[in-house]
Amino acid sequence: MLVVMKKNAVSEEIEAAVCAIEQKGFTARPIPGGERVAICVLHNQGAVDASLFMQLPAVKEVIPVTRPFKLVSRESHAGDSVIEVGEVLVGNGHLTVMAGPCAIESEAGALEIARLVKDRGARIFRGGAFKPRTSPYSFQGLGEEGLKILAKVRSETGMPVVTEAMDHEVFDLVEHYADMVQIGARNMQNFSLLRRAGKSRKPVLLKRGMAATIEEWLMAAEYIMEGGNDKVILCERGVRTFASHSRNTLDLSAVPVVKQESHLPIIVDPSHAAGFRDQVVPLGRAAVAVGCHGLIVEVHNAPEKALSDGAQSLYPDQFADLCRQIEAISNVYKASTNQ
Ligand code: PEP
Ligand code: MN
Repeated sequence: MLVVMKKNAVSEEIEAAVCAIEQKGFTARPIPGGERVAICVLHNQGAVDASLFMQLPAVKEVIPVTRPFKLVSRESHAGDSVIEVGEVLVGNGHLTVMAGPCAIESEAGALEIARLVKDRGARIFRGGAFKPRTSPYSFQGLGEEGLKILAKVRSETGMPVVTEAMDHEVFDLVEHYADMVQIGARNMQNFSLLRRAGKSRKPVLLKRGMAATIEEWLMAAEYIMEGGNDKVILCERGVRTFASHSRNTLDLSAVPVVKQESHLPIIVDPSHAAGFRDQVVPLGRAAVAVGCHGLIVEVHNAPEKALSDGAQSLYPDQFADLCRQIEAISNVYKASTNQ
């Protein structure tokens, strides 16, 4: 349920409404909006009697939230959220490109790739330090050393960095070094990790699980927001199907559906969806055409020598083409949708 305050409600009246909600045994979560504050009522078992709060001073209306996800839902927050990653904005009218290698392999390599992607249009640098690999014999990432390299990339290039926290154990460390913490597809329903991310002050990039419905994905985001962290960015990265011509099947219909259901920004990862670099540029173009708020793309200076996901990593020139093409598509998208 949402208790919507009048436009001119003063902070004492908002505070009084919060107290009244909490006195009934619920949790009250004020959500500042463009024009007015709405207070989301959480932790209720079943429907709440609207008349309990209708009579409070400066309450405009009480409306039920019909979706199982509440804080994530557009019903509780009508406008698009814009999330700050370092000083880079993600969401609403922004098209934010994140790029870098699958894994951080060395300081020199990371710095070189970072300069290459920055020059070609990336605003945020990606790179895994803790890698979730299918085989225990594959390169597992440099761990803390990789995080230190990411910090160096930030200080040398000015780009904020995003990297994955693969488990609870390393979350503190990742949070310390990164500007945004990634929760990977394999961990989308790792509820203790989601709760930990909810306590973080850093933005969280929540990738869709490889067999997750949109509702399950949005409920995972709800865990993070319920924990007190409202800086969540969603990332569609393909789901597992019978197809073998690509690593996963990019579900582009997720973009308009998520935008309808949620105020959170949604970006697309065409690299992990495709698995093969020749599909990455076309899928990236398509993702921008359906209205995503950005892309996260794997790029390597020498993909044939990459220690992970070389086959799907773009050459720097392909990444430059992608950036040029999506800028043009984004301009058409904005002009034709009045954004
Ligand atoms: C990644 O982005 O490095 C990654 C492992 O992606 P996903 O969790 O989507 O497989
Ligand atoms: Mn990868």
